[in-house]
Amino acid sequence: MNRLLIIGPPGAGKGTQAARIADKLNIPAISTGDIFRKNIKEETPLGKEAKSYIDAGNLVPDSVTNNMVRARLAEEDARDGFLLDGYPRNTAQVAELDEILKELGQEIDQVLLLIADNDELVERLLGRAAEQGRTDDTEEVIRHRLKVYEEQTAPLLSVYRERALIQEVDGLGEIDDVTTRILEALKK
Ligand code: AMP
Repeated sequence: MNRLLIIGPPGAGKGTQAARIADKLNIPAISTGDIFRKNIKEETPLGKEAKSYIDAGNLVPDSVTNNMVRARLAEEDARDGFLLDGYPRNTAQVAELDEILKELGQEIDQVLLLIADNDELVERLLGRAAEQGRTDDTEEVIRHRLKVYEEQTAPLLSVYRERALIQEVDGLGEIDDVTTRILEALKK
């Protein structure tokens, strides 16, 4: 079954790869960052609540994020599989995801960990900032987001390591090559 997570530092290419892999596997790619950005653009109450955290490169509070993910995973198109991109992002969210999936009678099957070194990440994020003008892409905020990843997100990997669910994939190189590597890793 394809109930998958993709985890990795900002700039590792999670969003790009998630869209490709989900397309290939015919499952929805669910990106919490994209859902937040859409809500900010549409100036919804959720968007207004999330904006200041995102602009500063901090995590949006779990209470907001968890409810959003709970609602999304209950939708029909996620019933037979999904690729979650950007969630969980701390150990409390891991516990919450376990709970949500338990209620749905589901389990995570594999966790993809995209690896890339720090200098490469900063360079890529600065490039993307210039192209897309994301408000959370100034150099200072980028560095802060990398720190938030190290401090809050990286520790959750040990949980999935203990469950033997993690497949590490090198995120460097051509986009197509990374996609191929991920699809290979998923067969294991
Ligand atoms: P991303 O596009 O995944 O890099 O997410 C962009 C921003 O959205 C992050 O820097 C956070 O501010 C926020 N965000 C995305 N996912 C989460 C999450 N699971 N928990 C808290 N904040 C999140």
